[in-house]
Amino acid sequence: MATGVSRVDLDGRPIKPLTICMIGAGGFIGSHLCEKLMSETPHKVLALDVYNDKIKHLLEPDTLPWADRIQFHRLNVKHDSRLEGLIKMSDLTINLAAICTPADYNTRPLDTIYSNFIDALPVVKYCSENNKRLIHFSTCEVYGKTIGSFLPKDSPLRQDPAYYILKEDDSPCIFGSIEKQRWSYACAKQLIERLIYAEGAENDLQFTIVRPFNWIGPRMDFIPGIDGPSEGVPRVLACFSNSLLRREQLKLVDGGQSQRTFIYIKDAIEAVLLMIENPDRANGHIFNVGNPNNEVTVRQLAEMMTEIYSKVSAEPPLEVPTIDVSSKVFYGEGYDDSDKRIPDMTIINRQLGWNPKTSLWDLLESTLTYQHRTYAEAIRQSISKAIAS
Ligand code: NAD
Ligand code: UDP
Repeated sequence: MATGVSRVDLDGRPIKPLTICMIGAGGFIGSHLCEKLMSETPHKVLALDVYNDKIKHLLEPDTLPWADRIQFHRLNVKHDSRLEGLIKMSDLTINLAAICTPADYNTRPLDTIYSNFIDALPVVKYCSENNKRLIHFSTCEVYGKTIGSFLPKDSPLRQDPAYYILKEDDSPCIFGSIEKQRWSYACAKQLIERLIYAEGAENDLQFTIVRPFNWIGPRMDFIPGIDGPSEGVPRVLACFSNSLLRREQLKLVDGGQSQRTFIYIKDAIEAVLLMIENPDRANGHIFNVGNPNNEVTVRQLAEMMTEIYSKVSAEPPLEVPTIDVSSKVFYGEGYDDSDKRIPDMTIINRQLGWNPKTSLWDLLESTLTYQHRTYAEAIRQSISKAIAS
C-alpha cells in the first residue's frame, strides 16, 4: 500500500489502522478479504483457520510488502484456548468459519449445526465481554423460501415483488419441516443472528451481520479429485466447473428451476471493506450483500457457463451439455431448496452507498478463465493416469 496517503471514511474522517482477528481467513471469502486488506489498506490481520492453502500467496515469501501485517494461526475454534487472547489483541473480529456447502446440510446435520451455532458462541461471548466489535457472516439462506412460492403456480401475485424480494427488516424466515434437514444450516445461522442481535440489545455488543447472496469467483470451494475429495460435492460454481473441465454433462438438480442472483466476489469484498472502515454506519445493522441484476435459473447458469467455457478453453461444448438429476439422487434424503433469492438493497445503499458492478457474463468469464488456467492441466494428467492404470 502507498504510504503517506491518508485514507478517509465515508464521512471524511481519517481511517485508523486496525488489527483484525479474521476467523475462517483461509476460505474462499477470507482469502479475497485478506488480499484486499493487504494490497489496499494499512490494517493488520491475525488470520485464523485450520487450512491456509488459499492464502499461501499472501504469507510467503516473508519479503512480501505486507509480511509484517499478516500472521497465520493454525487453530480450530472448537477447542483452542488461544482464541480469546487473539480476539482481545484485536480491534475487530470477523467470523467467517462455517460448514457452508449444501451437500453437508442434510448428510452431516449435527456438524452443520455445531459449526454454525455452537462453535460461534464463544466468539460472540468473547467479543461481548471484551467490548470488541464483531462482523459475523450469516447467509441469505436465513430467508428460506419466498412467500410467493406458496401461492398457486398461476397466481398473478407471484409477479409482485412484495412476494419475493428479501428485506432484512421485514421478510420472514420460512424453512421446511424438521425432516428436511437442508434447513439445519439456515436455522443455526438464524439462531446465531438472533443471539448476536440480543447481545447488542442487552449488552451493547457492537455488531454487523452480513448475509451473502451467492458470492462466486476464483478459489471457491474445490475441484473434486484435484484439490478436494473425489466424492466431495462443492457448491454449484465448482460442480459445474468440474464437469466442464472433465467434458462431462452438467447435472441439473430437479430440472435446474431454482433461481439465484450471483455476485462477483470482488464486488462483495468492496462492501465488506466499507463495513470494516465505517463502523458508525455499519454497527447494529444486518446487510444483504448480493447483485439483484444477476438473476438466472440454475439451468440458465449451466447454459451460460457452457458457452463461456467453450470460449475460454477453445473447445467445442458437448452436444447435450446438461442432464437432469433428482435431488434425492444428487444430495440424498432431506434435501430441499430455496426457490428464489433477490436481495433488497435499500439498507446497504442508504448506510454505505454501495452497489455491485459486475455482470454475470463478465464475472463468469473471468472466473472460468481462472478455473481453466488453474485446473485444466491437472485434470488432463489425472484422466491419463486413470486410463493408464
Ligand atoms: P469457506 O468454506 O471457503 O470458508 C470457511 C472457512 O472456515 C474454511 O477455510 C474453513 O477451514 C474455516 N473453518 C471452518 N470451521 C472452522 C473451525 N472450527 N476452526 C477454524 N476454521 C474453521 O466458505 P466461504 O464461502 O468463504 O464462506 C464464509 C462465510 O460466509 C461462512 O460463514 C458462510 O456461511 C458465509 N456465506 C457464504 C456464501 C457465499 O456465497 N460464499 C453464501 C452465504 C453465506
Ligand atoms: N445445483 C445443481 N447442480 C449442481 C450443484 C447445484 O443443479 O451440480 C443447484 C442446487 O440444487 C441449487 C443451486 O444449484 O438449486 C445452487 O446451489 P449451491 O450449492 O451453489 O448453493 P445454494 O445457493 O443452494 O446455497
